[in-house]
Amino acid sequence: MKVHLTFDIEVWCNGWGNLDGEFPRCYPRYVYGRSKHGDYALPKTLEILDRHGVKGVFFVEPLFSARFGAEYLERIVRLIDDAGQEVQLHLHPEWTDEITPPVIADVARKRQHLNYYTREEQTALIGYGKKLLEAALGKPISAFRAGSYAANADTFAALASNGISVDASINGCYPISAPELVREYGAALPFQTLGVRAYPVSVFRDGFGRPRPAQVGACSLAELRQAIQAAAVGGWSDFVIVSHNFEMLKPGQSDPDFIVVRRFDALCRYLAANRNELPTGGFGVDVATCPNGRPATPRTTLLPTAWRVAEQLMRRIV
Ligand SMILES: [Zn+2]
Repeated sequence: MKVHLTFDIEVWCNGWGNLDGEFPRCYPRYVYGRSKHGDYALPKTLEILDRHGVKGVFFVEPLFSARFGAEYLERIVRLIDDAGQEVQLHLHPEWTDEITPPVIADVARKRQHLNYYTREEQTALIGYGKKLLEAALGKPISAFRAGSYAANADTFAALASNGISVDASINGCYPISAPELVREYGAALPFQTLGVRAYPVSVFRDGFGRPRPAQVGACSLAELRQAIQAAAVGGWSDFVIVSHNFEMLKPGQSDPDFIVVRRFDALCRYLAANRNELPTGGFGVDVATCPNGRPATPRTTLLPTAWRVAEQLMRRIV
């Protein structure tokens, strides 16, 4: 079973009211996360992957750079590409009405989710984001994830018409995430539709029986390990884990959250130790095709979930 360790890379400015005032402070936090302990945003993420010889996929949001300047996107992309990791496209269309000249005609109001846009608008926005990212990267990209997992069937058509063959937007725990496709294909195994291969974010049932996406910042290490093992035993071809550039930072700060840091380091150590059975990889040219299907959802036992709840309490206190 292939493990896709994915990261959504994005810059936010504490709302939309003071973009120019907030950006100079927010950009270094989101990209570097500098503190007296080290740089725990992108640099530490890349260092941990490198130390363990593990491959990740970095879905980078480029629209913010149309507001602030291409050099800010280039710095992000250089960090990732120079570390030998894969860069792909992430898109938060909330930026659409902040960009001049406008990419689409209707920017009268802020529309958060990509599936609030028509197929033609999505085609234009994805094409524009792809152009920005490929210019910064200097090579083509081939995979996509919508911001907030908010894709729909029109997104897939828009991807295909932009020559993007892989989507990783679907998350079965989010009702906004392509419900019409999830009804048809499920949200577990990869499937092919509208000229695009979908790799849903992997979801498992935790110790309380509740569905939970495999996210580094929101699961215990034992939950992630059990879910990966159960999926492999259950015959899954691919397991997709999600994280972000800021997931090892405390909320609103640049200080590291060492509970998440240790968890991510241990997850990479586990994947490295099991590299033959659980090879890590991206969504580039070598992604395998596999038949559509609906396998059982992996389950974890109670103890790893109880541990996660305890860690969540700790993170709030420390
Ligand atoms: Zn995002």
